[in-house]
Amino acid sequence: MTQHPHILIIYTGGTIGMVKDYNSNVLKTFNFDNIYQKIPELNLLQCSISSVSFDKPIDSSNMKPYYWNQIAQIIEDYYNEVDGYVILHGSDTMSYTASAISFMLKNLGKPVIFTGSQLPIGDLRTDAKENLITAIEIAAFQENDEPMIQEVCIYFEYKLYRANRTTKLSAEQFEAYDSPNYPIIAESGVSLKFNKNTLKRDKNELAFSLQRILPHKILLIKLHPGLTKDCLSHMLKIPELEGVVLEAYGSGNAPTDEWFLNNMKSIVNKGIPVIDITQCVGGSVIMGKYETSAELVNIGLINGYDITTESAITKLMYLLSSNIPKEEIKYHFEKPIRGEMTVGR
Ligand code: ASP
Repeated sequence: MTQHPHILIIYTGGTIGMVKDYNSNVLKTFNFDNIYQKIPELNLLQCSISSVSFDKPIDSSNMKPYYWNQIAQIIEDYYNEVDGYVILHGSDTMSYTASAISFMLKNLGKPVIFTGSQLPIGDLRTDAKENLITAIEIAAFQENDEPMIQEVCIYFEYKLYRANRTTKLSAEQFEAYDSPNYPIIAESGVSLKFNKNTLKRDKNELAFSLQRILPHKILLIKLHPGLTKDCLSHMLKIPELEGVVLEAYGSGNAPTDEWFLNNMKSIVNKGIPVIDITQCVGGSVIMGKYETSAELVNIGLINGYDITTESAITKLMYLLSSNIPKEEIKYHFEKPIRGEMTVGR
C-alpha cells in the first residue's frame, strides 16, 4: 500500500462535472486534469488523485448496462494501482448504477464511492465541492493499514450510504437520497464519523474479479388499483421475456383476482423469475402474511424482502448474466449477496 492513498476519479457525466461558462451561461463539462486549480482545497487532503473521464460524459438518464460495464472495467483495470475510487455520476440514476456495480464487483476490498450534485461546481451555492471533497476523503480513509470502506457506497449531502440500499427521493433538495432499510454508514460533520457496525467486510480471501451485466429483457411492473387484465397480460406476452420485478403493495400484497393470479402462474410456469418487492419506500415483504400474498408463495414468486427497486432490477440482471441455471435464480435471489437486503427481519 502506498504511503498516501491514491484515489482515482472516474467522471461519467452529470451536473457535478459541469461549470458555467459565464459568457454564454451554458453548462460545460470541466477538465479533471485541472482539478487542483478548480478546487485548491484538495491540496489539503492526504492523498494523491488522478482522473479518467468518459469520452463523452452523459446525463445519467442515458445510463445503461453498456456504461455500467465501462465503469466496472475501469475499476478492474486500475485495481492494483489505486487505493480507492470516486465515481462522479448524475444523480438521477445513480442508485441504479451504484447498485449494479456493487453486484458486478466480486470480493471488493477497496472503496468505490459514488457522488454527484444538485448544482454544478462553479455555482455560488453548489453542493458539488463538499460532495466531491468528502467523497475523496472517505475513499482515502484508512485504519490499521486497510481502507475503512471496502464496498460500493454513495456519498451525498453529509451522508455515506450503502449504494445498493439507496433510492433517490428528491429532485431538488440537497439531501437527495435515502437508505430506508439500512443505517447510514458514515456522517460528515466537524469530523467524519463511521458507524462501524454497518461496514461490510468479506471474510474470504478470494481475489477481486468482475462480472459483466449483459442486456436482458426484464420488466418492472408497479401494481396500481385499476390495472386491467388486458394491460397486464399484454406486457407479459413480450417475446423472450426473461424476468419481472413486481412492485406490489405494502408487505408484498397483490390482488386476489383469478385473472391476476393466472397471469402470474403462467409466467412462473414458463420459468420466468418474478420478484415480489414492495412499492413502499421503507419496510419489507412478508410473503404469506395476508391472504393477498399467500397465493403468490404457492405460485412460486421470489421473495425480495426489503430490497429497493433499483437493487432488485440490477440484481436480477446480474443473476441472469451469470451462468446460474434459470431454476436456481430463486434460490440465489433470496440470499443477500452484497448486503443489499435483510432476510427475515
Ligand atoms: N440530469 C442529471 C443527471 O442525472 C442530474 C444530475 O446530475 O444530478 O445526469
